[in-house]
Amino acid sequence: MQDLITRLLIELGENPAREGLVRTPRRVETALNFLTSGYRADIDEVLNGALFNVDYSEMVIVRDIDFYSLCEHHLLPFFGKCHVAYIPNGRVIGLSKIPRLVDIFARRLQLQERMTNQIAETITAQINPLGVAVVCEGTHLCMSMRGVEKQNSYTITSAMFGAFRDQTRTRMEFLELLKHRSPGVGQAISATTPAGASCLDE
Ligand SMILES: [Zn+2]
Repeated sequence: MQDLITRLLIELGENPAREGLVRTPRRVETALNFLTSGYRADIDEVLNGALFNVDYSEMVIVRDIDFYSLCEHHLLPFFGKCHVAYIPNGRVIGLSKIPRLVDIFARRLQLQERMTNQIAETITAQINPLGVAVVCEGTHLCMSMRGVEKQNSYTITSAMFGAFRDQTRTRMEFLELLKHRSPGVGQAISATTPAGASCLDE
């Protein structure tokens, strides 16, 4: 990878031998390996020992989970907050593991829509809850840095399964709880984002 990055620096018109760039290929390799470590993470291992049987069927919400990812179209960062809710059906996931799950899917080349779905699908597969809802709000540097969109715009994606999809009341309760911190989420969420819309494919 370091040879490729040296080559890239040359293609960009840089001199990879100048002082500030000498160690850049190694740094970039280390950074990219970390930022894509989700490919190599084992979900079962991460959740090992953190799935519990409980007699609890109220909504569980973990809000404002920071995520940092790379868009697969431009290899530029997108980042923001992820909110996860589910209604247990006899089983729960240790709360600290939910941000870990978000990290696993964020640390890949991603589309925000796919990441949102993958988090929801994984929770469904692991504990088969009565419903799962995942909402992500992201700022995409491939849009803001390139001036494609207004600098402060952000993209909201959501995945709603089970009770969150079927029962308006459940969905509204969840969105109301989010709205207290994130104005805008409540209204924007009902409109589904078309595939690929979070990062303009150009
Ligand atoms: Zn992009």
